[in-house]
Amino acid sequence: MTDVHHWIAGTNVPGERSLDVFNPATGEPVRRVVLGTGETVQRAIEAARLAQPAWRDTPPAKRAQVMYRFKTLLERDADEICALVSEEHGKVLEDAMGELKRGIENVEYACAVPELLKGEYSHNAGPAIDTWSNHQPLGIVAGITPFNFPAMVPLWMYPMAIACGNAFILKPSEQVPSAAIKMAELLDEAGLPKGLFSVLHGDRETVEALIDAPDVKAVSFVGSTPVARAVYERGAQQGKRVQALGGAKNHAVVLPDADLDNAANTLIGAAYGSAGERCMAISVAVCVGESTADGLVERIAAQARDLKIGPGTERGLDMGALVNAGHRERVVDYIGQGQRAGAELVVDGRTHPLVTTSHGYFLGASLLDRVTPEMSVYQDEIFGPVLCVVRVETLDDAIALINAHPYGNGTCVFTRDGEAGRRFADAIEVGMVGINVPLPVPVAFHSFGGWKSSLFGDLHAYGPDAVRFYTRRKAISQRWPRQATKESAEFSFPSS
Ligand code: NAD
Repeated sequence: MTDVHHWIAGTNVPGERSLDVFNPATGEPVRRVVLGTGETVQRAIEAARLAQPAWRDTPPAKRAQVMYRFKTLLERDADEICALVSEEHGKVLEDAMGELKRGIENVEYACAVPELLKGEYSHNAGPAIDTWSNHQPLGIVAGITPFNFPAMVPLWMYPMAIACGNAFILKPSEQVPSAAIKMAELLDEAGLPKGLFSVLHGDRETVEALIDAPDVKAVSFVGSTPVARAVYERGAQQGKRVQALGGAKNHAVVLPDADLDNAANTLIGAAYGSAGERCMAISVAVCVGESTADGLVERIAAQARDLKIGPGTERGLDMGALVNAGHRERVVDYIGQGQRAGAELVVDGRTHPLVTTSHGYFLGASLLDRVTPEMSVYQDEIFGPVLCVVRVETLDDAIALINAHPYGNGTCVFTRDGEAGRRFADAIEVGMVGINVPLPVPVAFHSFGGWKSSLFGDLHAYGPDAVRFYTRRKAISQRWPRQATKESAEFSFPSS
């Protein structure tokens, strides 16, 4: 078995501690990942400190050229990256390609950095005074990412952070470390000066060392809510800028006028794609009216039983394995909890043949009907292939239900009534909303973020908010008095 090393200053750096990395489809270890210590963090910071000042002064158009080359290289090696993602995460290859493409969008957005950093200018803001504000990089920033999008979520962060003139230290999930290293090699090949991008593998110890390092000025985090909250609090206590995106429980509302065939067809992918291990996965279908619920359950159940499940590295499948054995057990336990609490288990993923015949962490799709808000399957993020159906009487009931939930990442409504869709989008306390769009993940030129326990911090990820997060605004006022002018002292507060 080979080791996945850290990547610092353009070279592989071994570590003292290590963990096995598993292939979820076989349950076998495929490589070992090293884990960083405070010393490794310092080494990455030293490399960044050496490289960042010159990068800060490099014209944004030159920085953008690195991103153009990086995009081309990501496309050249897309199959290799997706094979690594699929092997370590378990998701199917087509889905890995989908995430990589959405990640590459952020590299394309970073190519526009000269335009994005232009700033604002006022001629004669005061008497013969010109004022402009510009965005200056923070210096060294860090990103900590989850297991479920090994390619896309890191790409939400570092292309823009680096294009804005910063050095970036990435701490990817230790469960899926290889794609991050492959992409670091490509950034090096694209001509990024060494030291500006490091990948440190690790666990809580590494993350805390990064947050506490005085040179690290800002932290982007994506992961579960308890860790997001802890990272946010730790960074904020030290006066750092932190954006910490957390977990989710995303509801799809189905109104009686919706096209039920379309709603079922799109919901099945949104609920069970990537085995439900997506922060934007739909995990609750809120049906308005009994006949809507009966119709939707019948349609989804028929398809959920027939999903094509297998090793993600095989083509043409709907769903791969879950990420690890412990996580699968947790999801299995939730299915039992739902049943015991009185929900109707219409489709039981635990009975899928692969659960007993394979050493991989497979689980079939499950569908729980007549779920009620006090049940743990409704309250908690399960992060697996389990869809809960809640029955309500009106659209207002659906809105009240969703607004009372602690998570607020994504949501959607299926309807043919424009007024209902508009009212839903306006009243719902959720950061990303779809109207007949089940996974409303914004494109790279809009920002991504949830509300409530789904995001701690003020700014969303990527898009326009990335410029604000990875730079500091500076307002400069300037005048050039004529040399002959005699100026008298002015003690009142200056006004225009
Ligand atoms: P996680 O919180 O366990 O881990 C995320 C990262 O934090 C990893 O790099 C991990 O090594 C590190 N980490 C874990 N425990 C830590 C601790 N105690 N202190 C410091 N760092 C720690 O999340 P995960 O299981 O890798 O990912 C799944 C979660 O991420 C789900 O809750 C999902 O909803 C969420 N997620 C959210 C978004 C979003 O945009 N809101 C996107 C993707 C995933």
